[in-house]
Amino acid sequence: MNINDCIAKADSPIQSYWEYSSFQHVDICIVGAGIIGLSTALECRKRYPDALITILEKAPHGHGATTRNAGFACFGSATELLHDIDVFGKDHALNIANERFLGLSSLLQRCAPEKIKYEALGGAELIRAHEISYLDRIDEVNAFAENITGDPHTFRIVSTHEQKAFGFSDAVQAVIMNKYEGQVHSGYLHATLESLARAADIRIEHGSDVLQVNDNDDHGSLHVSTCNGEYALHAQTIILCTNAMMSKLAPELDIKPGRGQVIVTSPISGLSFQGAFHIDEGYYYFRSLGDRVLLGGGRNLDFEGEETYEFGHSSIIMEALETMLREVILPKKEFIIDYAWSGLMGFTPDKKSRVSSLSNHVYCVFGCNGMGIALASRIAERIASLIADS
Ligand SMILES: Cc1cc2nc3c(=O)[nH]c(=O)nc-3n(C[C@H](O)[C@H](O)[C@H](O)COP(=O)(O)OP(=O)(O)OC[C@H]3O[C@@H](n4cnc5c(N)ncnc54)[C@H](O)[C@@H]3O)c2cc1C
Repeated sequence: MNINDCIAKADSPIQSYWEYSSFQHVDICIVGAGIIGLSTALECRKRYPDALITILEKAPHGHGATTRNAGFACFGSATELLHDIDVFGKDHALNIANERFLGLSSLLQRCAPEKIKYEALGGAELIRAHEISYLDRIDEVNAFAENITGDPHTFRIVSTHEQKAFGFSDAVQAVIMNKYEGQVHSGYLHATLESLARAADIRIEHGSDVLQVNDNDDHGSLHVSTCNGEYALHAQTIILCTNAMMSKLAPELDIKPGRGQVIVTSPISGLSFQGAFHIDEGYYYFRSLGDRVLLGGGRNLDFEGEETYEFGHSSIIMEALETMLREVILPKKEFIIDYAWSGLMGFTPDKKSRVSSLSNHVYCVFGCNGMGIALASRIAERIASLIADS
C-alpha cells in the first residue's frame, strides 16, 4: 500500500498514532456533557469500573440548558400538579412528580449540597384572581403529594400577614407554599458534576460536535467534527444526551425544542422574599439570587415561536417578563435588568422523559420537559440499568 492509499484508508487521518490508539475506540461514548450526560457517565462508571468512558461535547464550555436554567430544585407547584392530574390522570401525574422528587434526593446524594449552593428555602406559588378556584383543591393536592413526600401537609396557603411581607402587588390574591422545594447554583452544579466525572476517570472532550451516529454489526460509530478536522470514533455503547438537539441525530424521536428566556435584576435593597416561586401553572418562575431576582418563562405566550433551535430573545416575552417583575413581583422596587439569556429545553407530548435503545449499540435519553435538575439522577440510573440489562 502506498502512502496515499494508507491516508485514504485511515479512519482518522487527522489523528496521530498516539491519539488513535488511546482515544479511537472506547467502551462507552456519551454525547452531550450537560447534567444528563455527566450523571449518566457517573452511573455507568458505578457499573463498569474499568470501562473507557468518554463524553463528547460540542460546546467549549456550557451553552446547554444545564448552565442556562433557573436553578429550581423542585418537583411541581400546586397548580401544575393539579393541572397534570386533570390532563393526564392521577397515576400518570404521580409518576411524573415522583420521578422528580426521587431525582432531587439522588442529586443531593451525588453532589454535596454546599458545593452546588443548595438552599432549602421552600417554594411558593402566586395565585391571581383567575386561579383562585385552585385554593379549593388544597386538600386534594396535599393528598396527592403525600404519596410523594410522605407528608400530608406538603402545601399550605400562607397567612395574609406572611403574604403581605413578600411585597407582591395586590394582583396576588393568595400564596401556596411548598416546603420541599429548594434551589441550586446551576454553574456550580455543572462544575461539581464535571469534577466528579474527571475524578472517576471519565474523559470529557469539549469542542467535539457529533455529526452522525451509526450502528455497525459489532460496535457503534460516531462521526465527529472538531476544530482540527473530522474523525470517526468507535464505541461499544453510545448514549445520546443532547437534550433539545436530540432530533438532529435521531429525527424519529418524539421530542420538540422549546426555548426558555431568563432575566436577572440588579441587586435590590431590602428584597422581601427568598426562595423559588411559580406563577401561572409554572409557566413563569422566579427566585432570589442573593439580593437579585431571577425571572424566567412566558413560553406560553408564543408556543409556536418558541419551538425553535435558535438562542435569542423575543420582544413579546422579554416585555412580559419585565412587566411581571415591575407590576406583580417587585411593584415598589427600583432595579434594572443586569442579565438576560436563553436556553433550549426538550419536550415530549406526555411530559415523561424517555430512556430507550435506538439499536444494538445506540441509546438515548431525553425529555426532561424543563425539569432536568430534578430528573437527571433518576434518568441516569435508569439508562445505566437498561444498558446493564441488555
Ligand atoms: C431557561 C431554562 C430554565 C430552566 N429552569 C430549570 C429549573 O429551574 N429547574 C430544572 O429542573 N430544570 C430547568 N430547566 C431544564 C434543565 O436545565 C434541563 O432539563 C437540563 O439541563 C437538561 O439537561 P441535559 O443534559 O439533557 O441537556 P443540556 O444541558 O442541554 O446538555 C446537552 C448537551 O449536549 C450538547 N450537544 C448537543 N448536540 C450535540 C452534538 N451533536 N455533539 C456534541 N454535543 C452536543 C450541548 O452542547 C449540551 O451541552 C431549564 C431550562 C431552561 C432552558
